[in-house]
Amino acid sequence: MIPAAFTYHVPATITEASALLVRYGDDAKILSGGQSLIPLMKLRLASPQHIIDINRVPGLAYVREDDGVLRIGALARESDLDESDLVRSRYPILHDTSRVIADPLVRNLATVCGNLAHADPANDHPATMLALGVEVVAVGPGGERRLPIGTFFSGPFTTALAPGEILTEIRVPAPRPRTGGAYQKMERKVGDFATAGAAVQVTLAADGTCERVGIGLTNVGATPTQAARAEAFLRGKRPDDAAIAQAGRLAAEECAPTEDGRGSVEYKRDLVRVLTGRALRQALARAGGGR
Ligand SMILES: Cc1cc2nc3c(=O)[nH]c(=O)nc-3n(C[C@H](O)[C@H](O)[C@H](O)COP(=O)(O)OP(=O)(O)OC[C@H]3O[C@@H](n4cnc5c(N)ncnc54)[C@H](O)[C@@H]3O)c2cc1C
Repeated sequence: MIPAAFTYHVPATITEASALLVRYGDDAKILSGGQSLIPLMKLRLASPQHIIDINRVPGLAYVREDDGVLRIGALARESDLDESDLVRSRYPILHDTSRVIADPLVRNLATVCGNLAHADPANDHPATMLALGVEVVAVGPGGERRLPIGTFFSGPFTTALAPGEILTEIRVPAPRPRTGGAYQKMERKVGDFATAGAAVQVTLAADGTCERVGIGLTNVGATPTQAARAEAFLRGKRPDDAAIAQAGRLAAEECAPTEDGRGSVEYKRDLVRVLTGRALRQALARAGGGR
């Protein structure tokens, strides 16, 4: 329960933090909320020799909308999403997601960017960000670059961040008219990681057909999963009962769960079918102005 010894660094800027990451390479880890890293260190599953704590870097704890984008800074906590009227009213899928992550104590510290950077396929935000089609901003020795979320998760607990890069911002496109989103998660008990989860963000055309659909799945693959076949099937279609049922079946087919203490492969696939259908229905209701 006691981590191995490490050297603790407290940079004042992201540039300084990135330089430390470059200097110490694989021996260093960024510390944000510490809600994944510290448990791993206590269990000695990770023993970084250098901890680079970015919590004292000013100006990173924001959740704000400007120029048609919701910007979530590196030090915005899950509780900031939980408590934001802007998020609750304009981005209910984000509110659905943050409120089912762990418990209030964890959410007071855990950062949304850390949830993505950790790249645990069991984490909830990756699926939601895939459904929303966000961009992430990385700052490193080569300056700043933006990556589409679809290219971010390169393997289990692995991202496309280059050596020395820090995730500094998530950029969520502001919802167009007739847009709704929802996240549905099945957990064994409150605060648990998902047995499976489904995130859906949909924009309807004026004629009621699906103009844009994003579907992300939690904990049913080696990386967070984009249900691309289900998305393609719905695009241009009227989302009636038959189309919703078929989208759920396609999502179930294209995920790749493994058997563990949370259930069998068959059970998890069926859960994906059901949760995708539920999230779609709720997203459509919200696109129509409902809750
Ligand atoms: C009891 C418990 C229950 C939990 N339940 C859930 C759950 O139900 N759903 C869920 O999604 N999560 C859950 N979590 C995980 C939690 O949400 C994590 O905090 C989150 O995944 C990581 O965010 P963090 O800010 O704490 O990151 P940290 O723990 O500080 O860091 C995690 C990893 O990401 C890296 N990192 C962090 N920030 C950055 C950055 N800005 N740029 C580059 N790399 C970075 C770190 O170096 C480290 O490797 C749970 C955690 C606990 C302790």
